[in-house]
Amino acid sequence: MMKENFLGVDVAPLTYKEIIKQITKNIEAGEPSTVIAVNPEKVMKAREDEQLRDLINGSTFQIPDGIGVVLASKWTGGAITERVTGIEMMGYLLHLAEQRRLRVFIYGAKEEVVTEAIANIKKNHPNITIAGYENGYEDDEEKVVQHIQEAEADMLFVALGSPKQELWIRRNKERLPVKVYQGVGGSLDVWAG
Ligand code: UDP
Repeated sequence: MMKENFLGVDVAPLTYKEIIKQITKNIEAGEPSTVIAVNPEKVMKAREDEQLRDLINGSTFQIPDGIGVVLASKWTGGAITERVTGIEMMGYLLHLAEQRRLRVFIYGAKEEVVTEAIANIKKNHPNITIAGYENGYEDDEEKVVQHIQEAEADMLFVALGSPKQELWIRRNKERLPVKVYQGVGGSLDVWAG
């Protein structure tokens, strides 16, 4: 896939539907996909932070979350025409999980936030399988990893804030059965309402 590049940071010039299509292909091929949201703030930070840049560029899909990225693409003759937000991407992925009977695990936010978010997700997606969850203040990484393994999760949403969540995913993905990862920042707070 051709990426667009802003000050060294890659962004995938794809719509929600195109990303879902490619993720579906990757699932069928047994390849994991990682989704990370990119906004101008992150681009500026990554300019001076090589590790952050590698973390972003090493993801499978860098979504243009932020109108600034869309405008930068437009001004430089790029192909990005619409914003792809982390929260909406999560909605599309939940829909995919529901259709394909994928097992979803949610990790992050405060206990009452994550449980309320899950209740609302289930209301919106009645056929979803939530295979398990952990709040984001469980510091025993081994315990969280083991829980996700035992839940046989196919899709994992991590809400620890950025870049903590993406670092967590990179550190642990080799030993997880998960095929789709998304760092979702404050999205669970939004779901919790
Ligand atoms: N969070 C967490 N564990 C931590 C730090 C943060 O679970 O150690 C959660 C926090 O409760 C919130 C979410 O991460 O629900 C997103 O935080 P923030 O809005 O700061 O992240 P951003 O969206 O700005 O990346």
